[in-house]
Amino acid sequence: MAACVSTQKACMAGPTVAVARSSHRQARMCVVRVNALAQRVEYIWHDGAEGTIEKGMQFNEMRSKTKVLQKPVTSFNAADFPEWSFDGSSTGQAEGRSSDCILRPCYVVPDPIRGGDDVLVMCDVLDASSAPHPTNTRAKLAAIINDKVKAEACLFGFEQEYTMMAKGGQAVYGWPAGGFPAPQGPFYCGVGSESVYGRNLAEAHMDACIKAGLIISGINAEVMPGQWEFQIGPTGPLETGDQVMIARWLLHRLGEEFGIVSTFAPKPMKGDWNGTGAHTNYSTKSMREEGGMAAINAAIERLSKCHPEHITQYGTGNELRLTGKHETCDINEFRFGVGDRGSSIRIPLPVQLAGKGYLEDRRPAANVDPYTVVRLLIKNTLL
Ligand code: ADP
Ligand code: MN
Ligand code: MN
Ligand code: MN
Ligand code: MN
Repeated sequence: MAACVSTQKACMAGPTVAVARSSHRQARMCVVRVNALAQRVEYIWHDGAEGTIEKGMQFNEMRSKTKVLQKPVTSFNAADFPEWSFDGSSTGQAEGRSSDCILRPCYVVPDPIRGGDDVLVMCDVLDASSAPHPTNTRAKLAAIINDKVKAEACLFGFEQEYTMMAKGGQAVYGWPAGGFPAPQGPFYCGVGSESVYGRNLAEAHMDACIKAGLIISGINAEVMPGQWEFQIGPTGPLETGDQVMIARWLLHRLGEEFGIVSTFAPKPMKGDWNGTGAHTNYSTKSMREEGGMAAINAAIERLSKCHPEHITQYGTGNELRLTGKHETCDINEFRFGVGDRGSSIRIPLPVQLAGKGYLEDRRPAANVDPYTVVRLLIKNTLL
């Protein structure tokens, strides 16, 4: 054991020393340890499921595995990273007999956890014939981005709410064992250990998002204690989906360090507790220009005509959340209003005052697929 430790120390100093002093097997390990050129690449993908709580257990929707490249890729261009494959029969994405699915790198950021030259690579999933897999909602979004959409330079701000659960997912993090905290009121944007649970993870997550170069625009403690929000944006269509997915992966990954399980389930606690949503703020160039309110109103008018199409794709279990209570509009109604947090679409007061800006779609549940929300908003307001 002592020899091994000193060998490892020698390795840090340089491979020649190590090779001279150790057995053949140890020498091979050492050569790997000193290969400063090796780069760890975390291939991340969405398995197509939506985060839920089942049988008291929280299962999330992100998957990843590590590829070590002996020759580092020095660019952040996704096309410079090799495609890879995975066993789709183990992620619910393929049958056992033809189980290979392909990971196609789409978006690369520095890895804020491993540091150095290591990177996180968001991938979309292709089937064995290199066609988009049925769970590949990114490809569906990419397919509708034509010149008209590009000219409108759409921007999105995604308010990702989540609920921290104690390990095992049985109870909300910080809630008294077998009981309940005080009724909702003091927790939203609260401060103090009586009001706020889990800030260490929320802060570590924000920090990681910033180090990864994500466009995170803030965090806040939410209405239900143990519930939090981070915002990604304003970002373009594909970028919004990619960044939200990487931010979700970082939340789950950091949860491993903190012993906290984060869930995007729309209504983790039944009763008089707020659900968990993903308000999506949306603007086009026309909405942001002088007199943009006309474009905002026109978009709302069009959205009012395809409410069911959105609702059916805005997250599994969203009916438990969109009840008309707890700052939501009933799932069967479509209402809009200025500063109205009981509406489907809210026009923020500053937007009304400026006569231009953006709208907020309050309907998506926290477990919604961000590529899908973005696609539906573009499709049903611009195309
Ligand atoms: P709320 O008051 O609903 O809690 P937040 O401050 O949490 O709002 O989130 C607002 C989001 O809207 C932020 O992510 C912000 O970046 C985004 N946003 C701001 N301006 C625009 C815009 N013009 N288009 C799209 N998103 C925008
Ligand atoms: Mn294997
Ligand atoms: Mn918010
Ligand atoms: Mn919120
Ligand atoms: Mn909001």
